[in-house]
Amino acid sequence: MAFDVIVVGGGPAGLTAALYTARSGWKVIVLDPMGGGGQAATTDVIHNYPGFPQGIKGLELMELMAEHARGFGALIETDEVEKVSLGDAGFSVSGQASTYESSAVIYCAGTSPRRLNVPGEDRLIGKGVSFCATCDGPLFSGKRVAVVGGGDSALTEAQFLARLASQVILIHRRDEFRAGLYNQKMVRENPKILSCMNSVVDEIHGERYVEAVTVRNVKTGEVNKEPVSAVFLYVGSSPNTAPVVDLVETDDSGYILTGPDMSTKTPGLYAAGDVRRKPLRQVSTAVGDGATAAFAAETYLMGRAV
Ligand code: NAP
Repeated sequence: MAFDVIVVGGGPAGLTAALYTARSGWKVIVLDPMGGGGQAATTDVIHNYPGFPQGIKGLELMELMAEHARGFGALIETDEVEKVSLGDAGFSVSGQASTYESSAVIYCAGTSPRRLNVPGEDRLIGKGVSFCATCDGPLFSGKRVAVVGGGDSALTEAQFLARLASQVILIHRRDEFRAGLYNQKMVRENPKILSCMNSVVDEIHGERYVEAVTVRNVKTGEVNKEPVSAVFLYVGSSPNTAPVVDLVETDDSGYILTGPDMSTKTPGLYAAGDVRRKPLRQVSTAVGDGATAAFAAETYLMGRAV
């Protein structure tokens, strides 16, 4: 299947890139392992995307972005991309379901959640260990749950879970949160969130389902076994760069280095959104990246055509 532009990843960066390129008349396909939406679709309510003063559900926003891109003719397919390589037409993109050819690729594969690598974690994933409060939180209504992490994701999702759970223990390894001041204030003022600072999880316990976590205070050495029914892990993310690793340069953390126009070291290959090195990872910045990458890709395609 041949296209002008293949967009890898259907989060806010990818769907915006697809919208812009499709609107200009290029033949565009978006490939996404989940059919689109990205991590934004798993966020309960997004409060800082301009134009929605009451906030908007992450899933609803992403469905609107997909509808918008489709409205201009972009195809959105469910396929997990395994490799992007240089091919006869420009690029060859191998997915689990099919192989696609294109003149340009806009790579927006985002990030995947990091793990704690503690005993019990792998065994209890899907049995109380979760990376998505929006998806799994309602299963623990009225129960005591733990959230691990000190960034905006942990604090945002702790607030969401506090609406359902009897209590949320927020476990963070340092004495101050990494999250922005707004989320810190909201967490401080929430009577259902108990912050355990300077604390790490050493083990997740449970026979068939999560029953408790061992929490160790790294300053005092005190160890407590806290009874919880679920553990939500928000300890950061790693960029999903494996399919393009030979075609791009990355920083020490693996994020793709781009020019201001989202170009990579390979002509015709652009990277946008959370997967690239940037100071702020938000839906609003991903949208900007997607539009910029689309503009650059179009310029590249027109250059090739003349
Ligand atoms: P993040 O900002 O990288 O925070 C990860 C947190 O996990 C940090 O507090 C870190 O601790 C902790 N951590 C990392 N490894 C750990 C380990 N092995 N054990 C225990 N704790 C560990 O990630 P994020 O919260 O997912 O946010 C990612 C980006 O999205 C950020 O730019 C964030 O601002 C943005 N975001 C924004 C919003 C919003 O504005 N509403 C919502 C969600 C995400 P240290 O602090 O000690 O390093």
